[in-house]
Parts: sequence; C-alpha cells; structure tokens
Amino acid sequence: MAPLQREIEQRGRRIFELVDKYPESLFSKAGFYQRLMTLSMRDERFKTQLFRFVAVLPSLRRSSEIIQHLEQYFSDTNNGFHALVGTGVRLARLFPWISAPVLRWNVSETARQFIAGRNPDDVIATLRKRRAQKIGFTVDVLGEAVVSEAEADEYAARYADLLDKLTRETKNWADPLGINAELFPVVNLSVKISALYSQMNPAAPADAIAHLGTKLRPLLRRARELGAFINFDMESYTLKNTTLELFKTVFSEEEFKDWPHAGIVIQAYLRDADRDLRDLIDWGRARGTRFAVRLVKGAYWDYETTKSRQNESNPPVFLQKPESDANFEALTRVLFENESIVAAAFASHNVRSIAHAQAVADELGIDPSRFEFQLLYGMAGPIKRALVEMGYRVREYCPIGKLLPGMAYLVRRLLENTSNEGFLRARFAENVPAKELLRDPRELIRPAVAGIGSSAAALAKAGDLGGVISSDGKNATSLRAPPGDIFKNAPLVSFIYKDNQDKMQSALREVRKRFGEKHPLYIGGEKVWTDNLTPSVSPAEPSEIVGYGTEAGIPEAERAVKAARAAFETWRWTPFEERARLLDRAADILERRRYELSAVEVFEVAKAWSEADADIREAIDFCRFYAQQMRRLGRPKLTQQVPGEESYHHYWPRGVAFVIAPWNFPIAILCGMAAAAVVTGNTVIMKPSEQSIICGAMLMQIFEEAGVPAGVLNFLSGHGSVIGAYVVDHKDVDLIAFTGSREVGLKIWESAGITRPGQRELKRVICEMGGKNAMIVDADADLDETIMYSIYSAFGFQGQKCSALSRLILLEENYDRVMERLIPATASLRVGNPEQPGIMVGPVIDEPAYRRILEYIEIGKKEATLAYQAKELPPHGYFIPPTIFSDVKPDMRIAREEIFGPVLSVLKVRDLDEALEVANGTDYALTGGFFSRSPDNIERVKARLEAGNVYINRSCTGAIVGRHPFGGFKMSGSGTKAGGEDYLLHFLVPRVVTENTTRHGFAPEQTPEYRDEFLWPKPEP
Ligand SMILES: Cc1cc2nc3c(=O)[nH]c(=O)nc-3n(C[C@H](O)[C@H](O)[C@H](O)COP(=O)(O)OP(=O)(O)OC[C@H]3O[C@@H](n4cnc5c(N)ncnc54)[C@H](O)[C@@H]3O)c2cc1C
Repeated sequence: MAPLQREIEQRGRRIFELVDKYPESLFSKAGFYQRLMTLSMRDERFKTQLFRFVAVLPSLRRSSEIIQHLEQYFSDTNNGFHALVGTGVRLARLFPWISAPVLRWNVSETARQFIAGRNPDDVIATLRKRRAQKIGFTVDVLGEAVVSEAEADEYAARYADLLDKLTRETKNWADPLGINAELFPVVNLSVKISALYSQMNPAAPADAIAHLGTKLRPLLRRARELGAFINFDMESYTLKNTTLELFKTVFSEEEFKDWPHAGIVIQAYLRDADRDLRDLIDWGRARGTRFAVRLVKGAYWDYETTKSRQNESNPPVFLQKPESDANFEALTRVLFENESIVAAAFASHNVRSIAHAQAVADELGIDPSRFEFQLLYGMAGPIKRALVEMGYRVREYCPIGKLLPGMAYLVRRLLENTSNEGFLRARFAENVPAKELLRDPRELIRPAVAGIGSSAAALAKAGDLGGVISSDGKNATSLRAPPGDIFKNAPLVSFIYKDNQDKMQSALREVRKRFGEKHPLYIGGEKVWTDNLTPSVSPAEPSEIVGYGTEAGIPEAERAVKAARAAFETWRWTPFEERARLLDRAADILERRRYELSAVEVFEVAKAWSEADADIREAIDFCRFYAQQMRRLGRPKLTQQVPGEESYHHYWPRGVAFVIAPWNFPIAILCGMAAAAVVTGNTVIMKPSEQSIICGAMLMQIFEEAGVPAGVLNFLSGHGSVIGAYVVDHKDVDLIAFTGSREVGLKIWESAGITRPGQRELKRVICEMGGKNAMIVDADADLDETIMYSIYSAFGFQGQKCSALSRLILLEENYDRVMERLIPATASLRVGNPEQPGIMVGPVIDEPAYRRILEYIEIGKKEATLAYQAKELPPHGYFIPPTIFSDVKPDMRIAREEIFGPVLSVLKVRDLDEALEVANGTDYALTGGFFSRSPDNIERVKARLEAGNVYINRSCTGAIVGRHPFGGFKMSGSGTKAGGEDYLLHFLVPRVVTENTTRHGFAPEQTPEYRDEFLWPKPEP
C-alpha cells in the first residue's frame, strides 16, 4: 500500500474512533426527523412527496390547508407508502386543529436543525455554544430568490447589520488555536452574489460586476474596518464565472488589493475546477496578497444535471461521485502546494476527504493551524468534535433566516443527507465499513458512463422497440418510440462562456459591417431583382438600415407559382430519404452560421442574444425533427394483417405550398413551415414578414447552399396585401401555412375556402394565430418561481411572442403578496438596445406596433388602474415601457384583445373556479399556465384550462421542438402542432392501396408490415 494511503487510513480510523466515542445519531435531533429520514432512504417516492410537502408547508396559512395538502401528497398510502404515514394522514383528518400545528412545529424543528437562528440576535446564542466547543463560525443569510433591486438592497442591508452585530458580540473572542490567528478572523461572513443583484445574466458579466461592485464595496470596507472575513459562496454553474470574475476584479482594486481576508469557493464536482483554481492562484500571486479558498464538492449536483439534460448539453459536473471525490483530493494538493498565497478551508463531511487533506498537509509539512475544516451547522457533530480533539481548526457554516426562505436550503440538505451517493448516509445509516469508506476514490471510478438518466433510458427504449439508433444515440428513425424521446434537440448556446460571448460580439460586428446589403428574390433557382427595394431598419435605432429586400409584385408572384408548380412534378417523386437529407444539410449550415444569424435577428427584430439564439436552435430542431418524422412516415404501412388481401396506407404531397411567416420568430417559424412542406414533397413559395426580410433572405441562402433543387423553394418578399393575397387565391396553390395575426389568418381561412376555376385541390390551411394567454396563481404557489417566470413570460422579447403572458390571474388570498414583489421586479428589468448583452426588454418591432401598443396603454388607463409603468427609456427606438394594469375585469378590452407588447393585465379572483372561468373566457386558446403546489388543483387545471399548451409551474413561453409541440385552437389556430409528431400529416394526402393477393383460393400467409415497392423511384437499399 502506498504510504499516503496508509496515512489516510490511519487518520481516517482515528477519526472514526473519536466519532464512536461520542455516539450520536446521524443528525443532532432524533424523533420525527430521524423517522422521516429513515423512511425517505427506504422509499424514493415517499422522499419526493415528503420534500415537496416540506417545501410548501411554510407558505400554508390555515390548518385545513395543511391537512388538504397532506392528504393530496400522501393520499395513496395503500399504494406503497408506509403504514405510519397512512395513520398520520388519518389522524390529521380527524384532528386538524391539533395535527396541523404539530406538523408545522415538527417541520420547523427539522428546519431549525439546519438553520442556526432566525435573526442575528438569535444566532449569537448558538455561536457562543460552539465557541465553548472550540468551533468557529461563518454566517450566511438565507432568503427568498432576489427578483428585484429593492430586495437586493434589503439583503445588502441585512449583511451589513449582521456584520456589525457579530463583531460587537464577539469582540473578546480569541482564536481557538491561538496561533496563526491573523489568517482566520473570528467574524466570517458568507455572501451569495445572487442575493445582491436581481438582473444577473450570464451573457453580461460586466453589467453584473458593475452592479455587484457597487453593492459590495461598502460591505467590504466595513468588514475591513472591523477585522472581519468575507467569503463569496458559490452557487449554480450559471453564476460561477461571474462570481470568479467579480472576486478578482474587486480584490484587485487599489482599496482592497492588500486585504487578505477575502475568500471564494471552488466546487470540485465541476470539470472546470482545476483550471479555475490554478487561474485564481496565478491571479493571487500577481496581486501579491494572500486570499482564501473554501474547497467543496458542490451542492447543486441534481440541479446541474437536470438542467443540462433538459438542454441536451454536457453537464458541467462529473457524473460519477468518485470523480468528484478524486478531484477534491487533487485540488487539496494544489491548495497546499500554493499555501504561501492561498489559505485553504476544506468543507466536507466525508472522513476520507478530510483524512486525505490531513495526510497531504503532513506530507508537505504544513502546520494544522494554517488551514481549516468547515462543516455545516446541524450535521456531522461527532466529526467536528473529533477534528477539534485532533487539534484542527474547525469552522461551522451557520445559515440564519426564517423558515420560509430557508426551505430551499433545507431541501438541499435533506437531499444530501438521503442521497444514495452521500458519505453521511453510507457511514451513519448504512454502516458501511471504515475500510470501504477510506478507499482511494480513483480506484472506484468506472471507465466510462454512457449517457445519463433519461437519455440512456430513451435510447434503451428506442432500441427495444426496434428503432434505428444513430451513432450519437438519437435523431434516427424509430417506428414506435415517442418521437420526442428519440430526438436530440440542439443545445442552446451557453453565454456563460467568455468564448461564446466573444463569438457573439464578433458576429454582431461582422453583421454590422454588412448593413445596407441588398437581397434578391429567388424564383425557380434564379436570383431575381426588381426596381423596388424595401429597407429593413433596426427597431432599436430606426435610422440604421440593416439591409434591403427586393419587393416582389404580381408578375414575380405568378412566376414563383409557376416555378413551384413545375418543380412539383419532379420533387413529389424524389425519395423521401433524399428530401430528409436536404433538411439535415440545412440544419448543419444553420448550426455553422448560428452566431451570424443570431446577430442578424438582434439587429433586425431586436431580440436579446439568448432569444435570438433560441430561435436559431428552433430552426435547427425543426429541420432535424421533420427529417426524422418523414423517415418515420415515408414508407407505406400495412393497415391490417388478413390473408388474401394487403392494404397499405401511405402519403402523397399536396402540391404547391405557400408559407407566410411572422417577424417574431423570423427564422424558426419560416424555416419550420417551409421545411415541413419541402420534406413532405411539396414545393414552396416562402414569404417572410415585411419586418424581417433579411432573416428570410438568410434562410433562403441556407437552403440554396444545402442544395435545394430549382423551383422547390422560392423566396418572395414583398407586401402581404399585394403578393400575399394573390398567391393565397391562386388556383395552382394547394396549401397555405400561415403564422401571424388573427385578422390576416381569418381572411386567409375564408379566402382559401373559395374554389376557383381550374383549381385541382381543396386548399388546406394551416393557420396559427394569436393568444391572450393567462397564468393563474394559486394560494400556495411558490412566489419566487411565480414572479420570475411571470416576468419572463410577460416581458421577454417585449411581450411579442404569441405565447406571451398577458393576463395574470391572482387568487385574492395571494394578491397583495404577489403584487408586492411583481411591481419592483418589473421595475428592475433591464430595458435597452439588445445589441448589449443581458437586456431583457428591447424595442417593439416598428412604429405602427409602437403606436398601437401605446393606444392600448391609453385604453388600459381608462379601463383599469395603472399599477406600474417604467419611466426611463432609451432616447431612440420603438421602446414601450413595461406596463402593468391592476383592477382589470374580464370584459375589458385590455383583458380580451391581443396587445403584443410589454403590457400585463392583472385580474383578481375569489377562487380557482373563478380563475378557470376567467382564463377560459376569451376567444383564444394558445398557451396558459398555473402556479401551484396543490396536486389536486394542478390536476384540475391540467384537465380544464383551455389552451393548446398548458404549462405548470414554469414560463408559458419557450416551446421546444419535439418536447412541446406548439399550437392552439379556438381563435388561436386550426389545432396544428408545430414540432409535433402529427404536424407533417397536414402537408400530406393519405392514400390506401389495396390488392387482392388470392389466386385460385391460394393466399400468402404473411404480408410485410412495410412495403417500398410502390414508392417510385424505389429508395436506395
Ligand atoms: C462549510 C461548507 C460550506 C459550503 N459551501 C458551499 C458553497 O458555497 N457552494 C456549494 O456548491 N456547496 C457548498 N457546500 C456544500 C457542499 O458542496 C456539500 O455539502 C458537499 O458537496 C457534501 O460533500 P461531502 O464531501 O460532505 O460529502 P460526500 O457525501 O462525500 O459528497 C457528496 C457530494 O458529491 C457530489 N456528488 C454526488 N453524486 C455525484 C455523482 N453522481 N457524480 C459526481 N459527483 C457527485 C456532490 O457534490 C455531493 O454534494 C458547503 C459545504 C460546507 C460543509
């Protein structure tokens, strides 16, 4: 055995001996909590329900509500829940006035186990006790998510107050070890940067740093005066780079350059951790003053992996627990090797990680008084005591705050303590032997993990069902697996990375250089120009012309229809595989030109960076998804297995499709409709919106490069009222795919119903129109989520998404609490030119839209109460201030008509019945949402809300191809679902071919499920 491993084992065993000397249960409090933990470790489903219940409990005010929730969460006790729970639920039903308070008390006590006090005065008593045990402290303030600058200011004030109080109360406290005390001030405050700025956006670190710097400097100054230590905690990965950058920026400033009492956290579960730590050390050396690093494994593993899986991107964290452990050890060594510049704190409850740190320190000759171990309040008491007894410096991380804001923290701790992978569970609940627990984590790393979680499950499923799996595991045809499951969406660009921020900045510069470029029509494979050029201007700076589109007139429209008609005869017989490959190539080009296309959208329609990127991602997804779907639908399929007859169901294209798209998703929607039409064998005339001609022209270029044959896709820009109407009415046009306003949509619907002389087909119309989308907020909703998602849904892209939230329906019980936070949160939004990163609200599309929205605001002022309107706006551009109306009644115009701008109506209702009635009481049914933590109410809303897309506890915008097939009904649309498995069917006519296979009474036994014979020409083998 290697000497280091021997040393680690010796030290580990010593810690275990000391731990066993003071037997104590895993957690400092037994009883209710202990029992729940035991049950949770036994039963995953119980654990999920329990943690959800714990999270909602503090927000429930009445005993009856508590009991209702208890029943809803644990109602099917016969179906697997422990008998104890069933008894508890029955008792609670019988004696709600006793059991609800008892329950609340028990959960409060559980929270108190991890929360050191409600306020600074409260916490002092705890700290005194710890002092007697020679344990130091770092105090953290728990709070709700900060959604406004008012809340961020409050937080900053709480930190300052805490600092003063702690210093006063501890002024005579000495260092527990009495040596190297100057490295470790007694007062130590842990700060979370997300608490100090509400508008943090990973794409805009400079903005965050400027705001955070302003908030932090007074606190740092005060800490320095008082001789205290400030530590920056590390939160989720999105904030990591900003936190590191902020730390280096502020502590490089003249005022703080020589101050050694600043620390930051490195999370060993991150793949970036080694690079970040070395970079910090280099920075520290250049700065020339000591600083500190708290090494942790990381508290957001579940969150990071879930988020990455949702985005189909690589998680930033290691996927095997021993990898995190091994990295923790590697970083431990890096810290000790650089002890001359960095003071290390090892924050872990894992005896192996702790023993390893001790052994390496010993090997490198570092005195135990020059680093510390940090552990969480309420956990692993015996380990803390053991470390103190061994002569190490120990500091406890003590969160303070009220129960409600403490819930997120509590749930994180509960998850950690019951995690299958966790050390504490292994040691204290499962009694894994010391030898096992002290093994070198590097030996435990499995060579490779193929995919994680649901992706892997989906793959297995697709495989089981006889699907064809591509080398990357997805985007291949599977005949029976749900299409969403075998489809891999393109990940969104992460603007967390400087590299990606730089690419976007450079794309914006490049696109700007091309301002004024002219774009032709594209008909029958030729570039076509006319005498009329239409300028496309930037909504943020209307004096800037992004480019010119060629204006088509009737002659060009006629030429386009002819070209499409002529091309149809060949294209319709082109094998579907070839057509699908065209889309795959287009997707690859979209991906290659992703930043450039996003930049064009930023200028032409004023999308924020991430919104523009999401649009390009959607276009990529549409191409790949429809290609995959065509492969699924393309082959003639047997209808029924009967002897003597075979019947095959298959599809033909409809003919010439006219695609009319809006400007709000200028590439995605145009691309989606055109791609669906092309891949199904139709030929297409594609008309972009007049406000987004350049985006349309870019898309045409992409298809041209992808090799679309002449006449299959034609590009016609111009006035809708001229060419639009002409092509819709044309006898040679068989299908119209439209997305846009209700007014135009209904006209198309009507006009397409008229059969003209010479017309071959009944025109098929795919019509997606607007919405008047509502979100209902239940009495028990999580307000952090409610505010965050409502704001994003209502004001993201200036409220110009057809899915945007425009009616927020609040139950009266919650009304004041929501409004109290909603208005300051709206007031904090960053309004500006979206060319700048991190802007939430930009200008609306053009002057007519600007005027129309202002008119609605005037109507709103007369009908309802103006609850909030932003005051400061950029001097140029079509900026509409984010506006909120309250006292809105369902019959008011602002509650009924689509405004398509950053205007939100708030309606107050008595209860959920009324909320549903109001939500459903419009002409539209596009998107709708509900915030609630009541399982019964959620079920009810899922069943009854009239919307094509219903979203629970999330934003009502941002549908993802394959995952959230998108589209509404009533006056929102004809009931089609873009990005769904049945979408392509609207572009096809079904045929059935039946053959009698009996000859003189003899019939073949079996008929194949699929036949390719009558696809002409036959697909390649
Ligand atoms: C004093 C103190 C301060 C802290 N401050 C922060 C902070 O600022 N930011 C922060 O994020 N965390 C912080 N933590 C939380 C800390 O990250 C967790 O408590 C810690 O990860 C638990 O690790 P452990 O070594 O005690 O236990 P162990 O049981 O050895 O490790 C559990 C950890 O392993 C990792 N893990 C679990 N499963 C896997 C897997 N499948 N693949 C890869 N890794 C996995 C996770 O990080 C998990 O938390 C702090 C902890 C302490 C004690």
